[in-house]
Amino acid sequence: MNAVPSYLLRCLSCGTKNRIPVEKMREKAKCGKCGSPINTLDLLTGETIAVGDNDFTEKVVNSPLPVLLDCWAPWCGPCKMVGPIMEDLASEWKGRAKVCKLNVDENPRVANQFQIRSIPTLLIFDNGKLRETLVGALPKQQISHAMAPYI
Ligand SMILES: [Zn+2]
Repeated sequence: MNAVPSYLLRCLSCGTKNRIPVEKMREKAKCGKCGSPINTLDLLTGETIAVGDNDFTEKVVNSPLPVLLDCWAPWCGPCKMVGPIMEDLASEWKGRAKVCKLNVDENPRVANQFQIRSIPTLLIFDNGKLRETLVGALPKQQISHAMAPYI
């Protein structure tokens, strides 16, 4: 763990990772290299964030932090096992990664785009691109391990 109270956020314009002090996270941060604004909203919630077809690009693709996306549905038993793990990870990764949840029944566009054929499916995004696909109700340790290279 880094003792310095700051967060590493990627600039979406030039790709540079900027170290943003914690006190700047609540205001508008800027990239040190190209000066583009970095959206710090929603990054310090420590909770899972619901996303859908309409805000998937804004919240996942354009996220300055890596994103773990839980693709789930209310009727899915194994998804209920993964739910509390997502809450735990969102808290553990506060300021380092976002944990988002996508209801596949209500958001078919994103579900089709990533060819979600069984749920739960966990997708890992970094720098706006899909990096990993994890299928099934995996143990927390395995999910953490898959996410480790990105946070
Ligand atoms: Zn930049």
